[in-house]
Amino acid sequence: MSLYQKTAHELNELLATKQISSVELTNDLLARMDAVENSVQAYVTETRELALAQAQAVDARIANGETLPFLAGIPAAIKDNICTKGIKTTCSSKMLANFVPPYDATVMEKLQAVNPVMLGKVNMDEFAMGGSTENSAFHITRNPWDLTAVPGGSSGGSAAAVAAGEAIWALGSDTGGSIRQPASFCGVVGMKPTYGRVSRYGLVAFASSLDQIGPITRDVTDCAHVMNAICGHDHRDSTSINADVPDYTKSLVCDIKGLKIGLPKEYFVEGMDAEVEASIRSAVKELEALGAEIVEVSMPHTQYAVSAYYLVAPAEASSNLARYDGVSFGHRADGTDIVDMYKKTRNEAFGPEVKRRIMLGTYALSAGYYDAYYLKSLKIRTLVKQDFERAFEKVDILVTPTAPTTAFKIGGMIADPIAMYLQDVCTIPVNLAGVPAISVPCGFAGKLPIGLQMIGKPLAEDTLIRAAYTFDRQGGHLSG
Ligand code: GLN
Repeated sequence: MSLYQKTAHELNELLATKQISSVELTNDLLARMDAVENSVQAYVTETRELALAQAQAVDARIANGETLPFLAGIPAAIKDNICTKGIKTTCSSKMLANFVPPYDATVMEKLQAVNPVMLGKVNMDEFAMGGSTENSAFHITRNPWDLTAVPGGSSGGSAAAVAAGEAIWALGSDTGGSIRQPASFCGVVGMKPTYGRVSRYGLVAFASSLDQIGPITRDVTDCAHVMNAICGHDHRDSTSINADVPDYTKSLVCDIKGLKIGLPKEYFVEGMDAEVEASIRSAVKELEALGAEIVEVSMPHTQYAVSAYYLVAPAEASSNLARYDGVSFGHRADGTDIVDMYKKTRNEAFGPEVKRRIMLGTYALSAGYYDAYYLKSLKIRTLVKQDFERAFEKVDILVTPTAPTTAFKIGGMIADPIAMYLQDVCTIPVNLAGVPAISVPCGFAGKLPIGLQMIGKPLAEDTLIRAAYTFDRQGGHLSG
């Protein structure tokens, strides 16, 4: 097995025992990028020189006899909506095509402390709006399992890079499923932490009450290690939770005896692929055989979650994106007067999906429609949250499909926004409720991977890691 195919924990072992150097490992990843990036196109900006300099620094410290943090010297990719000081952060938008942040996001500061190697910034749907990475203003990204299929989105570059061996792990962001759905489509592990568990400071805002950064990794062990590195309170994000962060690697144990797992019947939706449903049902049997107790639960407001999300998220987006006016940063067009300049700037630099969301959100927030749309969607959000609270009185975690289908064809859905929005049916309620969830590979339909979603109580990422680890360790889920 080549180095680029290994997990972070395998590589950590090889680095710590001096069987390989970080420069050797980084060069292996760069060679892999040379070989496949032309077809996968996961990256927006490659930072090869920085990566090699970081690798050299790690090697020098290892040679010095220092014991380094777990992720030290291991190459990673960062979604291009996370601010990186001195390195372009484009959000895959023409608006920010030349934006170089003057500061690091809190997650980047935290990562500097564990000395990873940064290979570059990865592609996404523009401003994280989408589920296929086709909304990138620069180029599409292809699914490494099938180059004619999408990698999912909006963190499609992150998931594709990890699946293709172009990064060992990556950071993504998840507002309505953008970590979990691409993880599911690309056969990797993706976790959306509890809202507030990871600081959003320096994450370019899409829908601030829903956005959350999280890891995309090759297995659950790596997920626990990245969570250890990025979680924690941050005074610069007022919604950040001030609670202790456990050592998530302590949850890497195979033990789900007596764990109560709820199976919400509303998540097995009409139009779901039969193979996806069969794979999820067989995963549930496996979990039962491992000692879990399976309980059927009902979450009656699930059916309204997509509609509520597609009002709340665009409403917040329309407000967040008002800052792109051609004045402080980003693209600026010439205009005959200031209003003309605003109009031209925004018209030239936002893509069609971003414009659609701004219009939807502005409409939902406008006088006369606020109560009918925005306020009503907030009430639905409360009902969806209560569905989770009620379910979690009876069970420890919930298990559902991550997405109703496997990766769809490039171009297959882009002309039909509603069909694309319905793809998010299993992931959106989790963001509305603010609870954590993880997607782990559970099987294949043809050559395309299927993801199993596990949803936890607020701040119970440790339980999710334990359950997902126990399931993942059974093996056989990715041997398609
Ligand atoms: N697909 C969803 C959307 O388009 C989710 C996006 C996300 O989580 N960033 O809004």
